[in-house]
Amino acid sequence: MSTHGPGGPTDTPRPAPTEGDLAAAAGRALVEFWGTRGSIPTPGSATQRYGGNSSCVALDFGGELFICDAGTGIRALGVELARNAAAAPVRAHLFFSHSHWDHIQGFPFFTPAYDPRSRITVYGNHAGPGCMYDLLSGQMQAQYFPVSFRDLGAVITRGELGEAEGSLDEGVDEAEAPTARAAMATVGLGRLAGADEALHREGVEINGVRVRIFRGRHPGGSIAYRFEHQGLSVVYSTDNELDAVLLNHHESLRDLDRMRKAPLEFVDFAYGADLLIGDAQYTDQEYPRRAGWGHARANTLVDLAVQAEVKRLSLYHHDPLQTDVLVDQKVEEARARAIRHGETQLEVSGARERVQLRLR
Ligand SMILES: [Zn+2]
Ligand SMILES: [Zn+2]
Repeated sequence: MSTHGPGGPTDTPRPAPTEGDLAAAAGRALVEFWGTRGSIPTPGSATQRYGGNSSCVALDFGGELFICDAGTGIRALGVELARNAAAAPVRAHLFFSHSHWDHIQGFPFFTPAYDPRSRITVYGNHAGPGCMYDLLSGQMQAQYFPVSFRDLGAVITRGELGEAEGSLDEGVDEAEAPTARAAMATVGLGRLAGADEALHREGVEINGVRVRIFRGRHPGGSIAYRFEHQGLSVVYSTDNELDAVLLNHHESLRDLDRMRKAPLEFVDFAYGADLLIGDAQYTDQEYPRRAGWGHARANTLVDLAVQAEVKRLSLYHHDPLQTDVLVDQKVEEARARAIRHGETQLEVSGARERVQLRLR
């Protein structure tokens, strides 16, 4: 992980970590964005600040490296990891939200995958044929790429995830959700309460980090992850059209100012997160022409964050048509909305490439 000051990223090589550095790493939790763009890379001067690389976020929990998605942003992360590999060979857990191009395309350019000393565990959609591992190797067939997956030097293994805690795959119609709405009325816009609260919330433990999953709403499916480490939690939920499953779906399209009620199980999944990184591809104005494409309105993510009492919100997976100026506007609108909902503590920012967030 790099250590960028407020002035922004630099490409200056840094010395390999010492034993003291490794000891200091034990309690830390860092998040670094390597690709924040949705759908397709968008290099160019108009996207320089937020970045043009597609989805990739690195999470460092006490020295354990967890990477979410392998969009083109993972290339530069790999270059940085390779610089330090002489002292500490790369050991990474790679979590995929799904296999659309903007989430896998950078993998063949991930330098540590070519180093026989690297250990990479891949997690993602379902086991068996069509699992993430197979799809990653599929995109390296000779028709698409000059080097085959078999020729990668690293030890690459399949990782196991537990059962998903829920799914947004099925829409919730306003008229057909009396139970959910009644529950909402009972507990307000907060977390789902009850004796069976802890059911399905176990997830799996990976090197001291608890990982829980929830299925998102996206063509072909997607997975949202919740990582918990020493009392801190980060939720990564991209390519997830929350708007399609809102409890007050129709109302949310008619009255844009009204609180958009997210399904309670998903509110519960995101509840109390120290950081929520979420699909915020569209503005309210852009969304109607793109409904059903699998992405959310930024303002809807704000409402989820408010309901789930999240501490920090990072708007992620920016639309390719959004310049830095337009993303700025989207972020400002999101901040104003949080405040209108009475949420003055929620920290809202736009995910920016090569920017690091320190959670501890
Ligand atoms: Zn995507
Ligand atoms: Zn997608």
